Amino acid sequence: MTPTEPDATTPELRKLPRADRLLLAAERAGLLVRLGHAPVMEAIRAELEGRRVTVLAGAPCPPAEEIEAALLARLAAGVPGALRRVINATGVILHTNLGRAPLSPATADAMAAAAEGYSTLEFDLDQGERGDRHHHAAAALCRLTGAEDAVAVNNCAAAVLLSLAALSGARPSGQPPGGASPELPAPGLPEVPAPGLPEVIVSRGQLIEIGGGFRIPDVLRRSGAALVEVGTTNRTYLADVEEALTPRTRALLSVHRSNFRLDGFVTEPTLAELVALARRRDLWVVDDLGSGTLLPTAPYGLAAEPTVSERVASGVDLVCFSGDKLLGGPQAGLIVGRGPAVALVKRHPLLRALRLDKVALAGLSATLASYERGEALRELPIWRAIARPLDELEATARRWLLRTAAVAPRAEVRRGESAVGGGTLPGETLPTWLLALPCPDPAALLAALRRGPVPVVARISDGAVLLDPRTVLDGEEAGLLESLEAALRG
Ligand SMILES: *Cc1c(COP(=O)(O)O)cnc(C)c1O
Repeated sequence: MTPTEPDATTPELRKLPRADRLLLAAERAGLLVRLGHAPVMEAIRAELEGRRVTVLAGAPCPPAEEIEAALLARLAAGVPGALRRVINATGVILHTNLGRAPLSPATADAMAAAAEGYSTLEFDLDQGERGDRHHHAAAALCRLTGAEDAVAVNNCAAAVLLSLAALSGARPSGQPPGGASPELPAPGLPEVPAPGLPEVIVSRGQLIEIGGGFRIPDVLRRSGAALVEVGTTNRTYLADVEEALTPRTRALLSVHRSNFRLDGFVTEPTLAELVALARRRDLWVVDDLGSGTLLPTAPYGLAAEPTVSERVASGVDLVCFSGDKLLGGPQAGLIVGRGPAVALVKRHPLLRALRLDKVALAGLSATLASYERGEALRELPIWRAIARPLDELEATARRWLLRTAAVAPRAEVRRGESAVGGGTLPGETLPTWLLALPCPDPAALLAALRRGPVPVVARISDGAVLLDPRTVLDGEEAGLLESLEAALRG
């Protein structure tokens, strides 16, 4: 509508405080000095814009004092736009939007130590010479997975990209890459080096999108290899793979269907079959395992996720998995497998662009140390969350109920379900107990929780806001209850 048209929301919009009033409030609170003028102005504009949107949507304009208080709380939380700590009450353990795996105190300490000082990142203390940054986590990864060698990069997407880039330049036998595949019939034809790109074969049913619009095939094409899709969405046979082999084929790729399930009329060659075929035809096998786990998931009532050791034992050349999914460590991409394949990865120039930084490397080593001590279940927050006993979850939800009963008389404790999340174990849930807050406008309560002194992220179901104790970490309860009370009163 044009500005001259009368509009019922305009009088409400006029009640919004002016920016200079808010700026003055920030100055009085000492926040202008602490944060600087430009970031404070940006926060003021964001606050006013947010309020404008809600008023235009028909809500009454809150009193100026309330907007001022909200702005000050926003600024007091730190530099606007910087990462903020939140409490995850969604019950989704590996919440990609909330930073996936929270780290153990030992991991966080190791990362802080590496961040604050100098370290042996690429320095050998015994020799007093340059050392190798890639050896730090490698020995532990080999012991824990049975692999011959290992290297850590920035994330699993990088691990897959690098693996394919490195392996598509060579054959396992060391024969020139352009040479024809052994056993390939070439009756009467002269043997010519194959033109075109090296090829990687993958089943159509495994060409997944891993979230944020990020598609595995798009990543893989950047490796410089051509992706050859075989089979159909639900059925791929070993024969489909064999028929697609050409003299340019370098690798067979298996991708874990992390975030969805194919049920029913489904066939796929086993990893063992792919490995046997690859051995006969002088090809590599790369396994993009996605999450990967070092511990079995079945004891917690979850589907049996293949462990990294099982995949390594199947004889594939490289297994790629994430550091911050079921491993429970910092963001990283782990490449483990057979010596010659890892050696090619370590020699590839892309490794320099995709390598892991010292802080993550220190954290990764500390997380792996928990597994080596046999204490991962007790020490790593994500495994603690997975393994939390039901009676403990119920007791926590009941404690929260007691604390909120005065402000939320309709609140109740309910059975519910938590999820592992992070593109792992799709459709699999863990039974839990929830604090349910039925209310007329659950979206508004959810928003108020996000604006609390410590922002709380929760979810809505059937007209109630649900808080799941499973993902609320040790030491976060007081902050959660404070934000909850503030939101319920407001
Ligand atoms: C999650 C996932 C990735 C990407 O892992 P990042 O560590 O986030 O890069 C790749 N492949 C599969 C199968 C995944 O599940």
